[in-house]
Amino acid sequence: MKAVVKYGKGKGMIEMREVPEPKPKDDEVLIEVKAVSICGSDIHIYHDAHPYWPPVVLGHEFSGIIVDVGKNVKEWKVGDRVVTETRTGSCGACFICQSGFPQVCENKRAYGIGVNGAYAKYVAGPASLLHKLPDNVSFEAGAVMEPLAICFTSIIREM
Ligand SMILES: [Zn+2]
Ligand SMILES: [Zn+2]
Repeated sequence: MKAVVKYGKGKGMIEMREVPEPKPKDDEVLIEVKAVSICGSDIHIYHDAHPYWPPVVLGHEFSGIIVDVGKNVKEWKVGDRVVTETRTGSCGACFICQSGFPQVCENKRAYGIGVNGAYAKYVAGPASLLHKLPDNVSFEAGAVMEPLAICFTSIIREM
């Protein structure tokens, strides 16, 4: 499949590449990407001014449809419309995670930053991070749930 890859450290170093389609692990799902947004962080990654672990497929704000599930995944099925939290790699065990802030765990390797993201046809990732996208919410709106969640956490929850 075609994917937008940040292939090395430094300014620029982004190109469209042919990459293998991801296969979901036992606790993961495979998502067909239906909408993905370009974040300010993507621009910072372009300018080498944000953490990232190349080579990596960019794109962390996305929505889509499940097209395959790993053998341990019981709560999701093919055809489900979903969005996902982007905090892949959060350990769940460190002080920060245990304090209720896994989104800022030092072990986090988010989609499109530390693990392959959604500037591609498919992305695979943990079922535990998924949220159902209701039928009356568009894929485009679903793609900006992640920045909306940041706003909610930063402004509403902290008030
Ligand atoms: Zn973002
Ligand atoms: Zn942690």
